[in-house]
Amino acid sequence: MIILCPDCGSAQTLPALAPMHRAICHRCGAELARSGQARVQAMLAATATALLLYFPATFLPVLIVEYNGQMRENIIATGAGALWGQGYWTLATGVFLLTVVMPLVWLILLFVVLFALESGRHPSWLGPLMRLCQSCRPWAMPEIMLLGGFVAYSRAGAMATTSIGTGGWSYLFYAAAVLAIDLLHDRHALWERVMPTPSIMQPLGAFACHVCRYPIEPASAEGARRCACPRCRVTTGARKEGAFNQTAALVITAAILYIPANLLPVMTVLNFGERTPNTILSGIGELWDQGVWPLAIIVFIASLAVPLLKLLGLSWCLAMIVRRSGSQLVARTRLVRLISFIGRWSNIDVFTISILCVLADFGNLEQVEVDPGAVCFAAVVILTMIASHCFDIRMMWDCIDPGAESARVHDPLVL
Ligand SMILES: [Zn+2]
Ligand SMILES: [Zn+2]
Repeated sequence: MIILCPDCGSAQTLPALAPMHRAICHRCGAELARSGQARVQAMLAATATALLLYFPATFLPVLIVEYNGQMRENIIATGAGALWGQGYWTLATGVFLLTVVMPLVWLILLFVVLFALESGRHPSWLGPLMRLCQSCRPWAMPEIMLLGGFVAYSRAGAMATTSIGTGGWSYLFYAAAVLAIDLLHDRHALWERVMPTPSIMQPLGAFACHVCRYPIEPASAEGARRCACPRCRVTTGARKEGAFNQTAALVITAAILYIPANLLPVMTVLNFGERTPNTILSGIGELWDQGVWPLAIIVFIASLAVPLLKLLGLSWCLAMIVRRSGSQLVARTRLVRLISFIGRWSNIDVFTISILCVLADFGNLEQVEVDPGAVCFAAVVILTMIASHCFDIRMMWDCIDPGAESARVHDPLVL
């Protein structure tokens, strides 16, 4: 069977794979297929567990703080309310969508898709629903909220007596169930269950759908530019339309916002009338001073290193496309994959602030106020996430003689 690499577009003959083996693109190292079937039943069980745990984890108190005889609780579902109350309604809406709405939408869609597959039904809406489910996944962030909760717990613990509530323990198991879904999830095998991938007849001019990898052999030039994928129904083409300009515009905007995001304070701690503004960097220093250096290192990587890596990495890839350079193509392809994978983790700090401003709300005695730096920082994270989503890796591979290469069929590496 001849298939196309989703990242570099190279046509390759997929062999029958022995158990525990994977087929890797001979050119860019993308995983083309792995042996074994989709573990639909196990995924269904993990999804049902995550759905059940979602409700106590989201609607019961996660962290409880006692200070001077008063008590404050943080509930995920209402946690964004404190941000709203302080006038940061865009940040509040963002946190609410990423921690309350999107996880629920994603889990429900996944449950429906898996249930339909398990019961052997293949309705016409299954492909589009699976696509919707796949696009919701990066925006559902329970595991990142959990890490944000750990950071908030450490920082609130330095100010007052902090304990974990029923919601907090539920959240731990809920995030574990989400991790189980991710470990069981074989995207390629699931799409095969929705509709099997056919072999392509003529590699020249053929391309893979950018969402589900279904190979498309367009009959006309218009079809190569824009057509509907038979499996997931997305409008696709040989290259993502406007990918270069969209990515460049988003990277430039994010790079400008990166400066105030790091220079301006993201939150101010009020203690007995004394105001201590905190930037991203000083927050990391505080964690380090408290001795929780593993969290300090994680926040340093997620909040400072990753956004910078995303901005520099995408800028480098865009510049190399403009120069039509074919050097370091494999390294650049791996870099874009890494950027798409780790980009969402930068939200840890935003979530930490959203939790802290609920917990530390004791008037003049102890209070956490959000500052404009947090809005800039959240914007950098979201814009760079969209930028890496808009980017089309195949644009980089176009620099090396696309006509001759796309006519040849190669053998993938089997590991
Ligand atoms: Zn490839
Ligand atoms: Zn598709």
